Amino acid sequence: MQLFCDRCNESVDHPIDIRSDVELAEIARDLGYRSVCSGCYDDLVVEAGETREHQADDRRSEHRVAAHVTLRVTPNGGESHETISEDVSDNGARVRSPTGLAFDVGTVLRIECLDGGPEAVAIVETVWADGEGKHAGLRLVESSESWQELVRELERGGGGTDT
Ligand SMILES: [Zn+2]
Repeated sequence: MQLFCDRCNESVDHPIDIRSDVELAEIARDLGYRSVCSGCYDDLVVEAGETREHQADDRRSEHRVAAHVTLRVTPNGGESHETISEDVSDNGARVRSPTGLAFDVGTVLRIECLDGGPEAVAIVETVWADGEGKHAGLRLVESSESWQELVRELERGGGGTDT
């Protein structure tokens, strides 16, 4: 019986069944391939690896919106301070560390938008300093719909309450 590669349509003596291949089962399903020649098999393995890498990149790279939002941050049991965000994302914000408040990694804060926006609880994930002073990366402890709504609003408005 003459067999053909599902990918390049060349005749092939020993097609490789990729439907049960751990790496390629998903691609086989998506593209409707059943069996391919060894050359195509190698190509598909490379493609599958690249796809996985891209997916991992997407998860890592957080979508950030450069927006200067006035936030009030209150450490647990501490005093409130005002700060301005440098950018915001669905999962948090990067802010300039307020004068008089030393952010430490791991500090839990309540953050509120002074424009009557959402409130959320965040943890200080990173702290760094540059010529402008100290900065902190805040990550929401749990995802907040109202926060995400704010981020989308800022994205549409292209910069929020920038003054
Ligand atoms: Zn082929």
